[in-house]
Amino acid sequence: MNIHEYQAKQLFRSYGIPAPEGRPAASAQEADRAARGLGGAGWVVKAQVHAGGRGKAGGVKLVKTLEDVAAASRDLLGGRLVTHQTGNAGLPVRNLLIERTYPIKRELYLSLIVDRGSERMTFIASAAGGMDIEAVAHESPEQILSVAIHPAAGLQANQCRRCAYALGLKGEQIKALTGIMQGMYRLFLEKDASQIEINPLIETEAGELLALDAKINFDDNAVAAHPDILALRDHEQEDAKENKAQQYGLNYITLDGTIGCMVNGAGLAMATMDLVKLKGGSPANFLDVGGGTNVEKVCEAFKLILSDGNVKAVLVNIFGGIVQCDIIASGILAAIKQVHVAVPVVVRLEGTNAEQGRALLNSTGLNLYAADDLTHAAEQVVALAEAAA
Ligand code: GDP
Ligand code: MN
Repeated sequence: MNIHEYQAKQLFRSYGIPAPEGRPAASAQEADRAARGLGGAGWVVKAQVHAGGRGKAGGVKLVKTLEDVAAASRDLLGGRLVTHQTGNAGLPVRNLLIERTYPIKRELYLSLIVDRGSERMTFIASAAGGMDIEAVAHESPEQILSVAIHPAAGLQANQCRRCAYALGLKGEQIKALTGIMQGMYRLFLEKDASQIEINPLIETEAGELLALDAKINFDDNAVAAHPDILALRDHEQEDAKENKAQQYGLNYITLDGTIGCMVNGAGLAMATMDLVKLKGGSPANFLDVGGGTNVEKVCEAFKLILSDGNVKAVLVNIFGGIVQCDIIASGILAAIKQVHVAVPVVVRLEGTNAEQGRALLNSTGLNLYAADDLTHAAEQVVALAEAAA
């Protein structure tokens, strides 16, 4: 789960991580009041969306006058911001963060992630922070330091110093960075975060360190244990189809292809998508209906897949291990009738009672194809999607 920058900065403050003074605003009037309240000679107006890349997309505006605070706010609010992380539709801008501006000496990068390779929480630090960290990682990886934390020993002072040296910090700044890293480490563990990113962490002209940006991701599997974090959820920033899927216990991820996929089991779903790709098609989604699926879930899964206008054909790939194929087949038929599926559906059933299942599907007269093996099913669905396009 993702939260907004202004929420992340509030959490930062409660963990002793310094962030610029700022206030959220949902209208131009509120933005004006926020800027007046903050005082100072300049402000930054920041679109609050669950995505990075706002700076390059015009979602971060530096302004010098109250008139410009209001103008920038009107410009951003109510629109959608498209960044390189949002996809073409962008994300709605309902909130802004108004902050005082600070004279920036240097922009640094600091994040805390779980490194799956070393199976450890790992700090990533670079003196080349700012908007192009992806390019730095790609072109000059030697400018990026990673420091893995031993789970029993915890974060060590010498690890903080190593990061501080890599960031070119001196004297009091080393202590300040240690405080920031300790705060990030505690926040990560106590709130079950999966990623905390500060880009940029700035060094001001006065030598102070401040988190100018704040991104926190939380582990979806743990967030139920943190009502305070759950309360920060903003459904509008999330994919509506993915939220709906969650309600029905379906694992659904929107993609941009034309072939809807309904599969039981995450591994089988990925193998199915690979095969569709191999046969020249492109999946419209990832969907795992789970092991013990039933008619209701299959119906909801069809509704989700068909609510995507790009879908030209559907591939159902079910392995009847826990569930029986004939029960799945009746579920599919019930769903197709209930949901009025207008696109062709290719079904591959294998496992317990597969014969009975296929017999049921073959005797309907619907736009339905029961395939006897997965390779044929993939070829068939790709051909049908191409014919429809
Ligand atoms: P992102 O593009 O979504 O990661 O948004 P950021 O919050 O990182 O802002 C993008 C860039 O805007 C930063 O790298 C800074 O260069 C600039 N910026 C943001 N806030 C301020 C500020 O208070 N003062 C100045 N001078 N620049 C800022
Ligand atoms: Mn940033």
